[in-house]
Amino acid sequence: MRTNRPIFTETNAIHRFLIWSEKRKNGPFYIRYGVPVILVAVATALKIQLLGSFSASSPFLLYFAIICFCTITAGIGPAIVAVVLSAVAADYFFILPKNEFTFTGLAFYKMAVFLAESAFIILLSSAIMSAYRRVNQVQTLFRAMIEKGSEGIVLTNREGKRVYVSPSIERIIGYTADEFLLMEPWVLADPDELEDMKAKMDDLLLHPGENISFIHRMRHKDGRWIWMENSITNLLDDDAVCAIVANFYNVTERVILEQKKDDFIGIASHELKTPITTLKASIQLLDRMKSEPQHDMMPKLIERSRRNIDKLTELVEELLNASQIGQGHLHLAKTEFVVTDLLMECCHHIHSAEKHNLVVEGDRELQVCADRARIDQVVVNLVNNAIKYAPQSKDIFLCVERANGDVRISVKDNGPGVAPEKLPYIFDRYYRAEVNSFNNSGLGLGLYISSEIIKKHGGQIGVDSKQGEGSTFWFTLPIERN
Ligand code: ADP
Repeated sequence: MRTNRPIFTETNAIHRFLIWSEKRKNGPFYIRYGVPVILVAVATALKIQLLGSFSASSPFLLYFAIICFCTITAGIGPAIVAVVLSAVAADYFFILPKNEFTFTGLAFYKMAVFLAESAFIILLSSAIMSAYRRVNQVQTLFRAMIEKGSEGIVLTNREGKRVYVSPSIERIIGYTADEFLLMEPWVLADPDELEDMKAKMDDLLLHPGENISFIHRMRHKDGRWIWMENSITNLLDDDAVCAIVANFYNVTERVILEQKKDDFIGIASHELKTPITTLKASIQLLDRMKSEPQHDMMPKLIERSRRNIDKLTELVEELLNASQIGQGHLHLAKTEFVVTDLLMECCHHIHSAEKHNLVVEGDRELQVCADRARIDQVVVNLVNNAIKYAPQSKDIFLCVERANGDVRISVKDNGPGVAPEKLPYIFDRYYRAEVNSFNNSGLGLGLYISSEIIKKHGGQIGVDSKQGEGSTFWFTLPIERN
């Protein structure tokens, strides 16, 4: 069975030994310095026993290995101890005349060469260790980037078989690296996009070193379609890589947001066009009547124009608000006020239209410290929505109460309610529950703006709704003092 191609040197025995050695360097002092003493003693005893096999002309051979081992596993200090002990033992036991210390003539030269070679071994071993340490650090960094990052990496060989799949792929498409490695290419791709993607890949195979990027759909393990941005480079001719390298990013959220923006532009244009068309028609009629100012239609046309200008102003303000909030420019001017006062005053337009009954209930004394104009905007939006989406609901209830140390304000209607599957998205930007309906106009921004205002105050916003049983939109504000 095919398995992932090893791409890190940790899989190699020398690297594993060097990593192990690195850890030993932090070991206790007596072990680090005891090891050279023991090793030199054992090597000396061995050499004395096997003196016949070891030529007296190479008395330091075994000691070099000990010095190298001590430098790698214990550091420079223990290596110097090994050098000194080896020099003493070799001089006494193996350099002629034996069994006495000699530091003159040939013995002196031998000792000088030994010390120089030992210094060279220590330097070389330390340099190798620090190079490996660096390689290890870089490798750990790359491993973290490849395995823990949000990007999936796949290497494919010349025959089209996957040879390496990064573990991060599981977070993107739900399949483990091993499952994805053994999967035939393209099985998860959208059949409608297959021909196009295959043509792109065939073309890439003819152009070593080149890169292509495209966005395509892929089937997640749980069955849903996700959008992938795929950046593929042909590195088959690069000896170190020898593969086609594909980097995958999950861009589903970005694609959906872009689609929502496109839909939004369509809706916004429609919303703006309706009052503009009516306004234009009214102005044309007024223009024709300018010679007869007493005409019966005149006041009606002026009133219609005013209403359409109000509607346009409202839409433009909503767009401006959403754009300011999107850029993080929502500033609050907090004051203390009684919540019921705000509820009584904010919806004059509803009272004067006399179509709906606003019933204010609850604790009439409760005060909050908040941006009054912004809270007014939230309440007006919730009440306007209740009227827009629950037109048959004669009574609309506004309630103020204390809840878990906060003030809770709710707007309740007896309209059609919101479908449970739509509830999680209702406060999202551009979200409109009835997407294809132009019966109820709106930009899908009102609840988003309201939720941002409430979040900025440190409160919460939500909705309790059952289809057919009306909705209660509510928000909380912390009770705080200036
Ligand atoms: P819009 O500009 O579309 O009114 P909102 O953000 O204010 O945008 O509302 C988002 C969606 O929530 C609306 O399109 C509507 O489907 C749904 N909605 C809001 N209020 C109510 C309500 N009281 N009853 C039923 N649905 C509602």
